[in-house]
Amino acid sequence: MAAPAMEGAAATALRSVLSRVQQAAERSSRPADRIRVVAVSKTKPVSLIRQVYDVGHRCFGENYVQEIVEKAPQLPADIEWHFIGHLQSNKVKPLLANVPNLDMVESLDDEKIANHLDRVVANLGRKPLKVLVQVNTSGEESKSGVEPSGCLELAKHVKLNCPNLIFSGLMTIGMLDYSSTPENFQTLSNCRAEVCKELGIPEEQCELSMGMSADFEQAIEMGSTNVRIGSTIFGAREYPKKG
Ligand SMILES: *Cc1c(COP(=O)(O)O)cnc(C)c1O
Repeated sequence: MAAPAMEGAAATALRSVLSRVQQAAERSSRPADRIRVVAVSKTKPVSLIRQVYDVGHRCFGENYVQEIVEKAPQLPADIEWHFIGHLQSNKVKPLLANVPNLDMVESLDDEKIANHLDRVVANLGRKPLKVLVQVNTSGEESKSGVEPSGCLELAKHVKLNCPNLIFSGLMTIGMLDYSSTPENFQTLSNCRAEVCKELGIPEEQCELSMGMSADFEQAIEMGSTNVRIGSTIFGAREYPKKG
């Protein structure tokens, strides 16, 4: 698509990201259309999300329930929302009830939350929800993400005991400061190999969500199928991260 003369900065930045994704995909001999770009819009206004939507992008990510619940109803229903933040059990119902076009929860790291999601999806009568198991690949003390040694157990639980959830792969942030290293990506990739082997899932059907603004090209070269990109598209976030 040709860039209109008055295109906004976020739309221009998205185009540049998409072409960098394409080049990284080519370097790793993979089709670029198999790599999903989640435009992470946390802290950013609906008007800016709309600008990126208007040039054709449909996948957006948020990590605070209160924020996605406020923004989603103001935006078109064909957006595929990804929830990428820490999820507490008392927020599961508001999230699912208010965001009917929630496509995926990328940050599942607890069996109880999985059971809760499963039940609420059933109660609301919505279609099954895709989930990724979040893995803490940096070994840093952190509340988010299961240890690499625990990802098989949680993936198995979802696959065997949560009929309203679709186990779709693994996600990692890497370090707590939102950076990550090749070792983190390699760890996630090793986790996938183990989970797929044990659960009998082809690796191509198990996503790897890894890579953010600073490192998405390297993540793609190491097998990422889903990159989560915030500041490079929307500009630096203006107020500090909560929590
Ligand atoms: C904020 C956030 C991102 C995006 O980070 P950028 O460095 O701005 O691209 C990606 N993943 C998660 C889980 C986030 O919370």
